[in-house]
Amino acid sequence: APEPVTAPAAVLPYQDASLPVPDRVTDLLSRMTLDDKLGQMTQIEKDALVPQSDLAAYRIGSVLSGGDSTVSPNNAQTWADTYDSLQRTALATPLGIPVIYGIDAVHGHNAVRGATLFPHNIGLGATRDPALVQRIGRAVAEEVSGTGIDWDFAPCLCVARDDRWGRTYESYGETPELPSALTTFVTGLQGDTLGAGPAPVLATAKHYLGDGGTAGGVDQGDTRLSEADLRAVHLPPFKEAVRRGVGSVMLSYSSWNGVRSHANTYLVTDVLKGELGFTGFVVSDWAAVDQLDGQSGFTGAEIATAVNAGVDMVMVPHDYKKFLTLLRGEVTAGRIAPSRIDDANRRILTQKFRLGLFERPLTDRSYTATVGSAAHRELARQAVRASQVLLKNDGGVLPLPKSARLFVAGKSADDIGNQSGGWTVGWQGRSGPVTDGTTILQGIRAAVTDPSRVTYDRYGNGIGSGYHAAVAVVGETPYAEGRGDRPGGLGLDQEDLQTLARLKASGVPVVVVLVSGRPLDVSAQLPDWKALLAAWLPGTEGAGVADVLFGDHAPTGKLPVSWPRTSAQEPVNDGDGKDPLFRYGYGLTYSGAGPTPTPTPAACTARLRTVASWPGGHQAEVTVENTGSAALTGWSVTWDLGGTRVTNLWNGSLTTAGGRATVRNTAANGFLPPGGTTSFGFTAEGSAATPAPDCAGS
Ligand code: BGC
Repeated sequence: APEPVTAPAAVLPYQDASLPVPDRVTDLLSRMTLDDKLGQMTQIEKDALVPQSDLAAYRIGSVLSGGDSTVSPNNAQTWADTYDSLQRTALATPLGIPVIYGIDAVHGHNAVRGATLFPHNIGLGATRDPALVQRIGRAVAEEVSGTGIDWDFAPCLCVARDDRWGRTYESYGETPELPSALTTFVTGLQGDTLGAGPAPVLATAKHYLGDGGTAGGVDQGDTRLSEADLRAVHLPPFKEAVRRGVGSVMLSYSSWNGVRSHANTYLVTDVLKGELGFTGFVVSDWAAVDQLDGQSGFTGAEIATAVNAGVDMVMVPHDYKKFLTLLRGEVTAGRIAPSRIDDANRRILTQKFRLGLFERPLTDRSYTATVGSAAHRELARQAVRASQVLLKNDGGVLPLPKSARLFVAGKSADDIGNQSGGWTVGWQGRSGPVTDGTTILQGIRAAVTDPSRVTYDRYGNGIGSGYHAAVAVVGETPYAEGRGDRPGGLGLDQEDLQTLARLKASGVPVVVVLVSGRPLDVSAQLPDWKALLAAWLPGTEGAGVADVLFGDHAPTGKLPVSWPRTSAQEPVNDGDGKDPLFRYGYGLTYSGAGPTPTPTPAACTARLRTVASWPGGHQAEVTVENTGSAALTGWSVTWDLGGTRVTNLWNGSLTTAGGRATVRNTAANGFLPPGGTTSFGFTAEGSAATPAPDCAGS
């Protein structure tokens, strides 16, 4: 049971939970010294906090565990103990302001061994299921809360425009609509209203702005776009996250037309806080302020630039003594106004109050057992099923019969580390048994009628004729951030090519399961393969891949990014007029040959009409009606504006027969050209659980 925190003798207004949050903040601010306030704006890596009493001595407001930070032994209980120990240190200061502890739980509580790991965002993008993503957010909040931690540096709302970028897998997709629709993750973490529900975790919309748009797909690079294009492509997901009440926004290392985000007063203060009305706080990225002048080591000028641009909390993360001395110097010299310091504090403290940190500062141990729980693993397995995109299925080789003799090969067939990717018990992740879960091979063996009929050899050695099919699980090994940039192209590695060559030589039909953070360059090998299933980075529940391979669940995923013909075609994105190998939104399902999955009861009709027309263009409207008995949870309308196409993704749900929804193109999306020559297309998709037939028309 959590130890009680000694109640203060007299309850001061800021300690009184019955008062409105703004009044509590005002009262607390009036009691704080300048050093108290500067400390609140300071975030330190847990491992850099030596001795721990510095947390109190420097009145530090926030601690984080960066990618490589861990506890020993690495289990949920020890994380909770570590958290509570730090929190008690903070509570022992004169004002007893609780510390807020942040972590990158970007596909589950991935720093903790044994946690449930969900598909990385690119796979969730392929599900196009906002309700599922919200449930995942909720599950992550429970696991994170079970270790005491209050704040998640997720979701990444990057719009990945060039697959050579090493963070492509952290993106829900290449169009602004897809990440916008999946901001339901924010609601999952925080609850409908932050602090109103159980186990709330503060969400972070990151990385503001344009991180996925850098030239050449270079991490931390320069996004060269007109303001109109920056706003059209990269801003919408942040707008939607702000509408959902996201408590924090993390800035991007990248620049926009040469100006670093951390120095961009216009984007941070005018657009985000002003125009979008963001009332939460802005946190810098890791050491990003310290890098502003292109050299390591803080200067007062860098700190003043960032704070004046609108950074409220600096992820220092190491040299806090120097940082605080310099920050204080900038304030006393008048280069940072006291009102800016107060505004930053008001924003940070407001979120701490809303989260309930003052009332419930210590770990709620009733959630500790949810870390890696059976219920969460089942949810993750469901997400894995829904995330897979079937790109090729010649002759209906899939689904595989469960009684067939199968040969399984490939470096990622039996590797939890590979299937989980980067940000898995360590920043870069690594191959091998890094955490608990089910590998794809284990999932296959559990699914078939007789596991002794499944032969496995990583390299494909020993395959002869007599197998119904060979399943090759190949792709990428783990990486994170810039280390995953591949300016030289997205081809398969030598090991994969050799394994695939052995399988090809046997004459056995080859089914490829691609485990990768992005589309790979497969044009040259594709003719050799009967089937291609993109599994992305599925996480710890490999059985979800077997569910699709054997047809217990038909594939329903749709490409969240365009799949290039060759890496040289990058950047290739929806509506840019290029001719990718597989277009954005592409994805097959099972039909015809082989055992057919349960027939779907979903159906819909659609109607198109012109609402208004004038010489310069016209506005149209599409109404979709659910005429089946299954829920339709996502559909999109693509407006062909003569040259460019704009997709509106509608993320409500038509749950009952007769449910209807209407979408119109708007001035912001662009009006349709005159003359009646424009064609319209749209598709409607069922939820992951109830695949719907295409509901298309023009
Ligand atoms: C990444 C952020 C992350 C931070 C803290 C940085 O390197 O860019 O996404 O939240 O580290 O770990």
